[in-house]
Amino acid sequence: MTSEETLEQFNLRKTKIRIAVLDSLSQSAVAQSYSTMQNALHEFDRITLYRTLLTLTEYGLIHKAYEENGESFYARCFGCTGQLHNHEHLHLKCSSCGGVECVEISDQLKSSLAQLPFQEINISAKGACKACASA
Ligand SMILES: [Zn+2]
Ligand SMILES: [Zn+2]
Ligand SMILES: [Zn+2]
Repeated sequence: MTSEETLEQFNLRKTKIRIAVLDSLSQSAVAQSYSTMQNALHEFDRITLYRTLLTLTEYGLIHKAYEENGESFYARCFGCTGQLHNHEHLHLKCSSCGGVECVEISDQLKSSLAQLPFQEINISAKGACKACASA
């Protein structure tokens, strides 16, 4: 599905910046930091970018994958809705390239997590991302 089709499906206006943000997150294997996106999308102003990230998060299209030193990393969501961000994966911060990767967890771990009364879950780990591990 293209970014335009995705926005249509969620009844969101197809603004240039929304398409640009979704395109860049869909193409990337790792989550992107706010400043990386800001550099890549410098034709848009910061406030517009910030608001776009909020809106797309609200609608379940992207999620904040990681936060470090005030820097947020965002990744594309698949199968989330505005009401429910349904992620059962962990976020691996790569110590080599600095990227953040969404990593699926085992069913075993999922079912033990399901016993816990959490409202929101964010598991993070440090190591090497797929690209760096295979390099
Ligand atoms: Zn999500
Ligand atoms: Zn890496
Ligand atoms: Zn993620």
